[in-house]
Amino acid sequence: MSATQFFTDPPTDAPAIAVIGAGLAGLACSNVLTQAGHRVALFDKARGPGGRMSSKRRPEATVDLGAQAFTVRDDDFAAEVERWRAAGCVAEWPNSLYQANPSGWQTHHDGQTRYTGAPRMSAITRHLAETLTPQGATFYTSTRITALTNTAAGWELTCENGDVVGPYTQVVITAPPPQAESLVQPLDNTLFSLCKRLPQQSCWAGWVVFETPLPALPGVASDWQMARAQHPALRLIARNRTKPGREAEPESVSLIAQLDWSKAHLEDENDAVAQQLFDALKSVFPAPLTFPKVTDIGAHRWRYSQPAEDADMPAEGFAIGRDGLALCGDSLRGGRVEDAWLSGYRLAQALLEEKGSSPR
Ligand SMILES: Cc1cc2nc3c(=O)[nH]c(=O)nc-3n(C[C@H](O)[C@H](O)[C@H](O)COP(=O)(O)OP(=O)(O)OC[C@H]3O[C@@H](n4cnc5c(N)ncnc54)[C@H](O)[C@@H]3O)c2cc1C
Repeated sequence: MSATQFFTDPPTDAPAIAVIGAGLAGLACSNVLTQAGHRVALFDKARGPGGRMSSKRRPEATVDLGAQAFTVRDDDFAAEVERWRAAGCVAEWPNSLYQANPSGWQTHHDGQTRYTGAPRMSAITRHLAETLTPQGATFYTSTRITALTNTAAGWELTCENGDVVGPYTQVVITAPPPQAESLVQPLDNTLFSLCKRLPQQSCWAGWVVFETPLPALPGVASDWQMARAQHPALRLIARNRTKPGREAEPESVSLIAQLDWSKAHLEDENDAVAQQLFDALKSVFPAPLTFPKVTDIGAHRWRYSQPAEDADMPAEGFAIGRDGLALCGDSLRGGRVEDAWLSGYRLAQALLEEKGSSPR
């Protein structure tokens, strides 16, 4: 197999459970399974862990491309976030939140405590991947799984380059439902029709890096951190250097687009989208303001960013199919960081219960 090894050498015997996707759901699931003594092979088509909690290193600054911050409601997730805090990969942010529109900015208090990864959002998933592998998991990066085959010996996975790996007794798919759909289609009608009932919305995310700090805004705290924008194109502005651990970086903003606007501009060129999001940012700043010189600008298209409003999620927040196939991920539970973790964590607990918690 020509897949890139990430942190460890492969175990000499084949791992028993395959997990497709190393976003938060896949990592949470793998963590529970490996702690119970199961061997796990984790696959992701990307070069590292993170999925929609990815961050992008630019020459001057690091920008978060997906989730900027998250909330905590569930007790199990709260305990996990405490462990992340102890490990130093998460911190409270933002404490200074605004509603932004061209006629003025107002402070926004909704009573919620929010967290972000420190020093970048991807620090959380990297921490989980690093602590996972010594427990008996192997992580294959740059490995897109294109097909599953149910053989007499167990599940075999076909990689994009034609390699076939396995057998595995269990396959957990954490890819967003429109991507999971093609993997389960010939194998499990129930999981396939569930994927069909979980359509996803697309979202553009842009970034701009500046040579010098943004100018002070009249009536707005100089250390404002995040703003919800009231603009047809722009939904959220996050100031990356106000996030814990990034104070020494130059000024940069992550710009999350409105979902309707993203849908209408889905096939536009990245550069054109980046410029339009920057123009939107300028228009929600109280005029007249002179912006600092831009040193870097870009945009990333999330084709599957969050569940559509009519998504029909399973009550459990995950789905166990036939012959050892299962689905989890935020889209099966609610569409947020907390949902992703809970979906993966609770699926793993259910699988352990099914297996009598015994390692194979
Ligand atoms: C722009 C944006 C803003 C957001 N803002 C917030 C927010 O403010 N608060 C909040 O709580 N949440 C937010 N979210 C949602 C949050 O990021 C997600 O809920 C969470 O990251 C989903 O994790 P997951 O593991 O379920 O899925 P993902 O992170 O999507 O992980 C799935 C993984 O599967 C991999 N994969 C897919 N197909 C294959 C294949 N065939 N083979 C191998 N690997 C494959 C992908 O590369 C990916 O890494 C936001 C998301 C986006 C995109």
